[in-house]
Amino acid sequence: MKLPLICGQCMKDGLAHISPIASVEFRDDGKYEVTCPKGHKSITLLQQQKFELLFDIGAYAVTDGYYREAVSSFTSSLERFYEFFLKAVLFEKKISQDVFTLAWKRVSNQSERQLGAFIFLYTLEFGQSPILLNDCKIKFRNEVIHKGKIPSRSEAIHYGQAVLDILRPILNETKQKYPNGVSSTIYQHIQNAYGDTPLGTTISTLDIPTIINLHISPNSCEELSLEKVISEFRKG
Ligand SMILES: [Zn+2]
Repeated sequence: MKLPLICGQCMKDGLAHISPIASVEFRDDGKYEVTCPKGHKSITLLQQQKFELLFDIGAYAVTDGYYREAVSSFTSSLERFYEFFLKAVLFEKKISQDVFTLAWKRVSNQSERQLGAFIFLYTLEFGQSPILLNDCKIKFRNEVIHKGKIPSRSEAIHYGQAVLDILRPILNETKQKYPNGVSSTIYQHIQNAYGDTPLGTTISTLDIPTIINLHISPNSCEELSLEKVISEFRKG
C-alpha cells in the first residue's frame, strides 16, 4: 500500500494535468518530502489520522493474504480511535494539547488503561457504556496477537467488520457532538506533522479516501462492508 504524491509547486503553477511524481511508503509522522522532475522540493502533510490509515493497512493486508497482520492493524486502528475520541472530547472542552499530552503519557504504554479512559469518558458523555468488541472477538484477537494463531481470511474479515461496526457509529457521534474538538485534533495532527519544516518550503496537505474517513457523512453509501470494499480493491 503506497501513497501517490504530486508536486505542490507544480500544482500552484497551474500544471493541473500533472500526474503523481512519487509513490511512497506510509510514514508514521505524516510528513512526506519529495522533489519533482523540475527540481521543486515540497512537503505533503497527510491529513488522515492514525486510525483511518491503520484500518486501510489492515484491509490491504487481507487482500495480500497477510491475515495475522490484518488483525493486528485493525486492532491498532481501534486503539488509536479511542485516543482520537479522547482528544476530540477534551479539546472540545478547551483542554490544551500540552495538558492532554501530559495525561496521555500516563496511559500511553498500556492499551488497557486507554480503553478504561475511553469507556468512562464515553459513559459520562453519552449516558451509557459504549459498545465494545464482544468476548469472542477479544479472545480471537488475543490468540492471534499473543499466541501466534494463524487466522483464516474469513476470520480476519469478520474481525475487521466487527471493528468497523464499533468505530463507524462512534465516529459519527463524535463528529456530531464535538465538531470543534474534531477540528482541533485534525489541526494539531497537521501541526505536529509540520514540525520544524523550514519557512519558505512549499507545503500542501493531502486527504486520501480511506475506508474509515472523517469526511464521509453518516449512513452514506460510502459506508460499505469490509468484504465489499476489499472486492472493490481487486477491481481497481
Ligand atoms: Zn514541481
